[in-house]
Amino acid sequence: MTSGTFDLRGRVAIVTGGNGGIGLGMARGLADAGADIAVVGRNETKSAAAVEDLRKRGVKAIAVAADVTDKAAVDAMVARVAAELGRIDVLVNNAGMSIRKPTHTLELDEWRTVLDTNLTSAFLCSKAAYPALKASGHGKVINIGSMMSIFAGAYAPAYSASKGGIVQFTRSCACAWAVDNIQVNAILPGWIDTDLTKGARREVAGLHERVLARTPAGRWGDVGDFAGIAVFLASPASDFVTGAAIPVDGGFSVMA
Ligand code: NDP
Repeated sequence: MTSGTFDLRGRVAIVTGGNGGIGLGMARGLADAGADIAVVGRNETKSAAAVEDLRKRGVKAIAVAADVTDKAAVDAMVARVAAELGRIDVLVNNAGMSIRKPTHTLELDEWRTVLDTNLTSAFLCSKAAYPALKASGHGKVINIGSMMSIFAGAYAPAYSASKGGIVQFTRSCACAWAVDNIQVNAILPGWIDTDLTKGARREVAGLHERVLARTPAGRWGDVGDFAGIAVFLASPASDFVTGAAIPVDGGFSVMA
């Protein structure tokens, strides 16, 4: 291991959904390792607060308002990041959401919203960023899956389809882009305390206790738990790691 193994100085990372939750946890890690960051989200107030937080870590940070399901907005976002920050070395496809319904009550537009937000967005952003990632000479793509990439749930047909799909999409891009020295990997979070899960915790009786009992680490994950894995997958430390789907779950996925 060389001293530059985890060094991200001079590199630029796009983090979709980087204005809160797991995305902000990863953005903070990347910034602490020296990367300049573009935070992508729809809520401009949240994005402005995230950018302020990241700038305090001594790096350049910009907020780009974009809906990641909208191809024109994604293309404009990528062009703006390249113009304002000069290059793109790392793309983190993290934006996501869920609609908790079983298949027989899920509407087609709800199915499409979940698939578009969690899966098609990764395709749009990856395709748009590919020329810049290739030009960097050492591109990295990090996609965010879920325990629902492995398991399933009665109330998550669209969510689990999107998160299963993100793993196969990751593997396909890893195969295609290895020749360009772009590594493409996925992170599979366990149960993490964010806005996404706060609602479920309120609505689903006993969820909090079940997660504690089902997770060998005996706790919910914190967004800070994603800083290290983001730096690893964005840095030269992972140059021979591609197509992997790495659980960050306190052992959830290995406990029978
Ligand atoms: P949050 O709800 O805290 O964050 C979701 C982020 O996605 C927000 O920053 C939001 O920004 C952004 N986003 C959503 N839709 C869009 C869109 N159409 N265009 C642009 N940005 C969008 O959730 P988490 O941090 O928990 O989730 C982050 C990722 O981690 C998701 O992919 C989720 O599925 C995954 N995950 C989370 C788990 C958990 O336990 N929390 C477990 C497993 C996976 P804005 O509101 O500004 O648009």
